[in-house]
Amino acid sequence: MVDEFGKPTALITMTVNPEDEDIIMNLYENQKAWERPDVVNSCFYQKMHELIRVIEKEEIFGPVECSVVVIEFQKRGLPHCHCAFTLKEKWDTKEKVDAYIKAFLPPLSQEEADKCGEIFDEEYLEYVQKFMIHKPCGIHNPKAPCMVDGKCKRKFPQNFCEETVMDDNGFTRPKRPDNGRSFKMKVNGKEVDVDNRWVVPHNPYLLKLMQSHINVEAINSIATVFYVFKYMFKGDDKAFVEMNEFIDNEMVQALNYDEIKSYEDYRYISATEAHWHLSDFWMYRLSHSVDRLAVHLENEQSLYMGEDAGDEEMEKAKEKDSKLMAFFKANQEREKEIAKVKETIEILKAQKKPINHIQIPEKILYNKIGVDHVWDGKAGKWNPRKKTTKPKLCRLYNVNPKRTNCFYLRRLLMAVPGPTSFENIRTVDGVLYPTYREACVALGLVIFICTIIGSLRSWESFGIIRKI
Ligand SMILES: [Zn+2]
Repeated sequence: MVDEFGKPTALITMTVNPEDEDIIMNLYENQKAWERPDVVNSCFYQKMHELIRVIEKEEIFGPVECSVVVIEFQKRGLPHCHCAFTLKEKWDTKEKVDAYIKAFLPPLSQEEADKCGEIFDEEYLEYVQKFMIHKPCGIHNPKAPCMVDGKCKRKFPQNFCEETVMDDNGFTRPKRPDNGRSFKMKVNGKEVDVDNRWVVPHNPYLLKLMQSHINVEAINSIATVFYVFKYMFKGDDKAFVEMNEFIDNEMVQALNYDEIKSYEDYRYISATEAHWHLSDFWMYRLSHSVDRLAVHLENEQSLYMGEDAGDEEMEKAKEKDSKLMAFFKANQEREKEIAKVKETIEILKAQKKPINHIQIPEKILYNKIGVDHVWDGKAGKWNPRKKTTKPKLCRLYNVNPKRTNCFYLRRLLMAVPGPTSFENIRTVDGVLYPTYREACVALGLVIFICTIIGSLRSWESFGIIRKI
């Protein structure tokens, strides 16, 4: 999706508000939200859909190109979601960021609002104070959960900045003016002055709509993409567990020492997460479905057959085309179509008739085949797509550079539209090259060292550098 639409524009993180009216309304007397995962989950699930709806359907930030939403559970149970939206219109200027993101306190009274010509919105102020303040940590509360090695891992308190800053590293810091606005908050029994440095960036409209903690950040960096997608692949939470016994009201270790135990870890699922899975709620949502396309050398395609397949079944499997082979065949058909249209044009030209209305079919790239074709796995064929339920994207399987031939074949498939065979793709300007690499060189597709250095930043996260 990043390849197709570019980096996401906005990253939104929303958490559950255990005091949400919808939750409280459904609790029995003296019950707490955490005792009712069913109520918490149903409420959050609906809110999340509402959030996606206002962004994608109502387009509060303008048209959306694609989105990814992932759910995560904290150790103690409550769910939260990370959503990355790629907008048609990027937030690439200070003005655009300022229009959507606020990281400072609104006027604290009608009087103050009048003085600076702003609108006093009591409801909004209440939500900012309740949900969008990073509870003072550091010297005010050294034991806060955000403190790691004596520093706040979320980098609070942030520095004041009079204007929104967008630096070259893809980092956006929204405006946080030093305008003297502050209010008192109780931290560890003491009253602390909270000013703009503690405000979490948010969007006022979404905050009022969701009435829970909802952080909105502008993204400029590709690193955020890994951050968002990491949640989809990192697997379940793990926890270290110790077994203890109570003897005469005293806790005694059931095992005095067990070497294995110190290495044991367990899959950790809270009641909320268990209920989420049992309810069949989704854990992640992509705006597009992604089809994976095979890349293989000639006669090296994967064959699928039963465990006890006989000769006949094996022969049948051999006859079936892979997605790549079927792509070549679809291109052969398209070549015929193109030739036919060109012929018609020539005839019309000779007859001096208009030709403007005739369109020559376009040659397509392998990774674009899914846009107007659908894969028929049984027949091993790409059929023209009639209807789309969900927008589709295709991606080619990765190939290890050590598999040189296949690696360069993939490179060619990404760059050459409409190849009709394994030989055809190696043919450049009428010359058939013996290897895919040489064809790549002829087309100027070989990656040079300077390109690699430019890519190091994005490769870092994959651990490729270490391998190199
Ligand atoms: Zn902190």
